[in-house]
Amino acid sequence: MNATRTARVRPTLHGYPRQGPDRELKKAVESYWKGRITQDQLLAEAARLRAAAREELRARGIAEIPTGDFSLYDHVLDATWAVGAIPARHRAAARTDTHTDLDVYFAMARGTKDVPPLEMTKWFDTNYHYLVPELGPDTVFTPDSRKQVGEFTEAREAGYSARPVLLGPVSFLLLAKPAPGVAAGFEPLTLLDRLLPVYASLLADLRAAGAAWVQLDEPALVQDQPPAVLNAVARAYRDLCAVEDRPRLLVASYFDELGEALPVLAGSAVEGLAVDFTGPAAGNLGALARLGGLPGKRLVAGVVDGRNVWAADLEGALSTLAQLLPLAGELDVAPSCSLLHVPLDVAAERELDPQIARWLAFARQKTAEVVTLATALSEGREAVAPQLAAARAARLSRAGSALTRDAAVRARCAAVTGADTRRPQPYPERAVAQRARLGLPPLPTTTIGSFPQTPELRRARAALRAGTLGEDGYRERIAAEIREVVSFQEKAGLDVLVHGEPERNDMVQYFAEQLNGYLATRHGWVQSYGTRYVRPPILAGDVSRPAPMTTEWTGYAQSLTARPVKGMLTGPVTMLAWSFVRDDQPLAETARQVALALRDEVADLEAGGTAVIQVDEPALRELLPLRAPARAGYLRWATEAFRLATGGVRADTQIHTHMCYAEFGEIISAIDALDADVISLEAARSHMAVADELAAAGYPREAGPGVYDIHSPRVPPVEEIAQLLRHALRAVPAERLWVNPDCGLKTRAPEESGPALENLVAAAKRVRAEL
Ligand code: GLN
Ligand code: ZN
Repeated sequence: MNATRTARVRPTLHGYPRQGPDRELKKAVESYWKGRITQDQLLAEAARLRAAAREELRARGIAEIPTGDFSLYDHVLDATWAVGAIPARHRAAARTDTHTDLDVYFAMARGTKDVPPLEMTKWFDTNYHYLVPELGPDTVFTPDSRKQVGEFTEAREAGYSARPVLLGPVSFLLLAKPAPGVAAGFEPLTLLDRLLPVYASLLADLRAAGAAWVQLDEPALVQDQPPAVLNAVARAYRDLCAVEDRPRLLVASYFDELGEALPVLAGSAVEGLAVDFTGPAAGNLGALARLGGLPGKRLVAGVVDGRNVWAADLEGALSTLAQLLPLAGELDVAPSCSLLHVPLDVAAERELDPQIARWLAFARQKTAEVVTLATALSEGREAVAPQLAAARAARLSRAGSALTRDAAVRARCAAVTGADTRRPQPYPERAVAQRARLGLPPLPTTTIGSFPQTPELRRARAALRAGTLGEDGYRERIAAEIREVVSFQEKAGLDVLVHGEPERNDMVQYFAEQLNGYLATRHGWVQSYGTRYVRPPILAGDVSRPAPMTTEWTGYAQSLTARPVKGMLTGPVTMLAWSFVRDDQPLAETARQVALALRDEVADLEAGGTAVIQVDEPALRELLPLRAPARAGYLRWATEAFRLATGGVRADTQIHTHMCYAEFGEIISAIDALDADVISLEAARSHMAVADELAAAGYPREAGPGVYDIHSPRVPPVEEIAQLLRHALRAVPAERLWVNPDCGLKTRAPEESGPALENLVAAAKRVRAEL
């Protein structure tokens, strides 16, 4: 197989982290918002960061660099801007003497004091959030190519070979939603004919600026799409290819298999496809071979996982590339998707054990990997022998490390039986035992866990980090916060209390820091949305729990009150979803390890007298595979992991779970399969539609559809909450209905959450009296 035949194979990328080595972009944008720097200063800083990134990519050997992937906030917002789909409310809100385009742009992103922003939602199954275009039958598209042309020209004038990258028209429409006030049945895709001339114009402008190729990203094509969408794809690319004097088109997809969209794109006149061959998208290789390849077309092969942090299996990638070589007219090597989803540089992690650091590859290392792969194909393996040897050694070290293979953890996982994942008594029996133990009134009130993070708490955390506050002083602050929160809840009259989570900065990180198998980074920031960056932990090894994680603070809170205090844990799926996960074993296996560690925590809480334990799974729906055939398998292991974590408790210990999203229709049977006694869900914003859906699905257990929208500073009046409860009562019988907010109160101010919770209790009492 060691082919000596060499080919001209070039390395390229779909996109690069935008933030700069030290999150300079975040700082500049936020300074602009605060009025500390001018628009010119902001734009100059952005240009400087782009220039530095270009220089870096060239120095590392990238032949054709992406442009237009940079963004001051979000690339979908940029596409919305480029096609002129600017909602009237944002145009109007920013209309002052001094308003500029940039102010309208940021009004769309963040709203103003008068108008709400565009909605934000997850970018496929990643943790990046994009701003949802709002479209309606009256939408008028007008091209604005300034950003794309500007960034391309800037690169070209600096001597780079560049390829503009822009969200494609079909994905743009599929990612959009009907504008407020537009009938819900409106389908943005019906605007395709109106949108295509605008794309044609953008392409013509880029061609006129000298672009030989333009990349149009169509990631929506890796989801199951009906024939109408596939027809739209065929039509879109037929029309765009018919544009006179246009750049050559590269249509890119990533995150999963192209499926039925592959023959449509392959059969179109576009000159190139960028295809993901990693992870769940690996089947694209066989599909492409069965199709007879892409004769005469350019194939940009995504063979380095662009959204996870592991050093690539270069040998494996080379063998994929060897199979792809005969299938395309021209082959490029790339990461599977934009490197936006990974941190910038492993070398910045000076505190990581170097033995472990070499298992990792962030954006800079992934760039080097695609260069190595391209060189191996163009010049022969000998040209990169040291890199291949280092990659092999790193993989061996990872596979053989005690961190990744803990015999005790593996033995315990292997011994798990079906009985471990089932509570012995069915829900109705448990409900009787729990009612007897807890003695709660009908429509019991509770909260989701966190209470506002007070300025005192933030200060204490900063002081602890700075070394000006000792561990004891910090712990005293936490204890004081808990006393405050417990006494408030008693006074307000809540029935099931919480300790308020003051010790947690983040619901995943808090546990990751205490579990074996997780690594933390110092500088591993990735963009979550806009100027918000997160530092996900890395699930690198076998997971175990060296010591109890929550019993102490939960026990302390319980010691202060006679009412039940809920224990509060993050569920196994969420512990995976908001981390970088291992790629060397099935996710199901990792989930099972985390579940066993949580099971021990649940047991310790129960032994300490905790009668109610909540295991949050807000990410259950997020990890749902993009393609339908993989979903049942996912839901099976995901719900099994939850039951493994919670299944060991007595009948009279009440298990709660919490999920904060309204659209859970497609996973409702999975929610049932969790076998939790009580679930709390987001509902206030969807006017109790959630309660109706639960009822329609025959959900048999207790439920608390949220009656207080914690995303808003507004304090809901008592009667408004009472109305929501009366609505919920039509769907869920009184003996199974709980009264709670939509989500945790962490982001609210105490002046907001305090009165809101008092109203919530008053509303529960009012409706109880009507029963
Ligand atoms: N218990 C967590 C809290 O209250 C739940 C957060 C979440 O659902 N995202 O903050
Ligand atoms: Zn929530």
